[in-house]
Amino acid sequence: MAVPEARAKRDMKDWQTTAPSWWCPGCGDFGVLAAMQRALADLGLNNEEVCVVSGIGCSGKITGYINSYSYHSLHGRATPPAQAIKLANKDLTVIVAGGDGDGYGIGAGHFIHAVRRNIDLTYIVMDNNIYGLTKGQVSPTSSLGFVTSTTPEGSIETPVNPLALYLAAGGTFLAQGFSGDMKGLKSLIEEGVKHKGFSLINVFSPCVTFNKKNTYAWYRDVLVDINSGEEIKHDPSNKAMAMQRVIDGRVYSGIIYQEKRPDYTSRVKGLQGPALANIDITDKSQWDYASAMESFR
Ligand code: SF4
Ligand code: MG
Repeated sequence: MAVPEARAKRDMKDWQTTAPSWWCPGCGDFGVLAAMQRALADLGLNNEEVCVVSGIGCSGKITGYINSYSYHSLHGRATPPAQAIKLANKDLTVIVAGGDGDGYGIGAGHFIHAVRRNIDLTYIVMDNNIYGLTKGQVSPTSSLGFVTSTTPEGSIETPVNPLALYLAAGGTFLAQGFSGDMKGLKSLIEEGVKHKGFSLINVFSPCVTFNKKNTYAWYRDVLVDINSGEEIKHDPSNKAMAMQRVIDGRVYSGIIYQEKRPDYTSRVKGLQGPALANIDITDKSQWDYASAMESFR
């Protein structure tokens, strides 16, 4: 049950915790948190049906602020435990949250393999183009020439294009949002959670303390809504078109690509019965050892 049948909306407050926020006033991550809470409330999910897994970085603190099961994992290692959680309990809605350094730097290898498995997770990357927690170093998505504490003469490294990387790895739901657009972001998160497969939502989430270039105003100026049908005509089911868009130099928001393809757990024979976590292992009648062994052949 990634997302159940239509349910009554719940209150956003149901998803809040009393933990004091660690983020700097104005940090983009506040908008992402609010959009996630609103999306979960509108989907009508119960708190015990959701697990949020985060990596390390300012963004990784988000697990403390959402009232669900959660796991604050290691740097760059949020997707592996999230995959394990999904395999152990396919009934859970599993959301992974992290930053650009976390997911596209040290976690890039894990990212690619989670994508190509099409395991049913929603990955929300708070992309601020910098390392915020460690006080402002160049990150994998920092632009060429970007001046930081570790690149005083400007970055000379070509930035990672996470959208192109995702499509090349075989991803099935690609969206890009902005933490300054709560309504739009909430709707992207809802669609990502509803999608059965590995969804990526790359979210521009400004670091107001260390990144004075990629600000709220800067994003408002450059973002183009890919789904509005006004400036451009885009077909999110056309992969070649999606690939062309993500390398054309413009900065898009909205759903860039979506395709229907069987997710990982639906293709593993041994996972077709009840979720592993819900099997009573003391009741041998629930175990079909022969077909479980067969699934490993
Ligand atoms: Fe947010 Fe940047 Fe402050 Fe971290 S350092 S909490 S990313 S504003
Ligand atoms: Mg970052």
